[in-house]
Amino acid sequence: MINTSPHQAHPFFAEALLDWYPRHRRDLPWRHTQDPYAIWLSEIILQQTRVQQGLPYYERFLAAYPTVHDLAAAPEQEVLRLWQGLGYYSRARNMRITAQQVVNEYAGQFPGSYAGLVKLRGIGPYTAAAIASFAFGERVAVLDGNVYRVLARVFGLTTDIAQPSARKEFQHLADQLISVEEPADYNQAIMEFGAIQCTPTNPDCLFCPVREQCFAFQHGMVQQLPVKSKAKAGRTRYFHYLVLRYGGQVYLRKRTGKDIWHSLYDFYLTETPEAALPPQALVTELEALGAQVATNRVSEPAAALRHALSHQKVEACFHELWLDAPLADDVLKQTGLEAYAAEQMDELPKPVIISNYLNKKGILRN
Ligand code: SF4
Repeated sequence: MINTSPHQAHPFFAEALLDWYPRHRRDLPWRHTQDPYAIWLSEIILQQTRVQQGLPYYERFLAAYPTVHDLAAAPEQEVLRLWQGLGYYSRARNMRITAQQVVNEYAGQFPGSYAGLVKLRGIGPYTAAAIASFAFGERVAVLDGNVYRVLARVFGLTTDIAQPSARKEFQHLADQLISVEEPADYNQAIMEFGAIQCTPTNPDCLFCPVREQCFAFQHGMVQQLPVKSKAKAGRTRYFHYLVLRYGGQVYLRKRTGKDIWHSLYDFYLTETPEAALPPQALVTELEALGAQVATNRVSEPAAALRHALSHQKVEACFHELWLDAPLADDVLKQTGLEAYAAEQMDELPKPVIISNYLNKKGILRN
């Protein structure tokens, strides 16, 4: 670490950021409110999501559920449908559960401090700090990916930020740097600074207000900092979907169990260790379903759609089959499949890969 103590660093750093922020900040709707519910919504939506992608979701959620009471009372399926396309669906499920907790245990009022907020389900140290400072003006420093990067570069921290132990060191420094008078603006400023000035690949060092004091800039280490060890490459999973169609309807089922896309809807699925599905496997699956399929009504599998998740990749192949008769009740019971018309399917929360397929086939249009 650079030979400058955080106490010495504090005046120039907070002052520079607070001077920089009003001149450069983006005008974002959650910056115009002190309502902890709206701030919390924006923070959950923006986790692992870019601002431009998250913005319409924030507006949609706030329009659909203007208060925490509205979100708490909403059916899970409706919340997941509104969330569709953002990924990490556990965020949406937990968000609704947190709303219920706030309504049932806190009379609909978010706790007014970091210590109270961090006890809520799905609210970790970062989100609690963001709400506590933005809504209640508490002096508690946020630490997200942008803040890690800025601190590592400016103060020359070389600890691997992928290691959980890094949090303590960075939080300690962040807590000493945060402005006493303007903690909310300071937190907004450092995150915004990381998002648009001190960016991961092309930071704008030439016009940076702290470049004279920036360790990374002064030592030619901008590209080396922060140190972050790479996560292990995720595995690829091969999904073969049987898109069973009868009349104007398509069979889907709700995903259950401990796997990706819990509570979302997809088609009958066979997962294989390799990309190719042995031809016999398809026949076996159909027999198990008791499905009567005219051989001339089995389409060639559509080109595989790929979807990257944080720790795994999915390659999905779709085999479309027109049934000669509806599936029997016992098969529906056993598989969880149900037949849906297009308008009904539209209402269901689905993984993006499924809605992309349905849109591509013209079954859905949105
Ligand atoms: S000089 Fe460059 S690396 Fe240092 S804080 Fe500014 S933008 Fe970031």
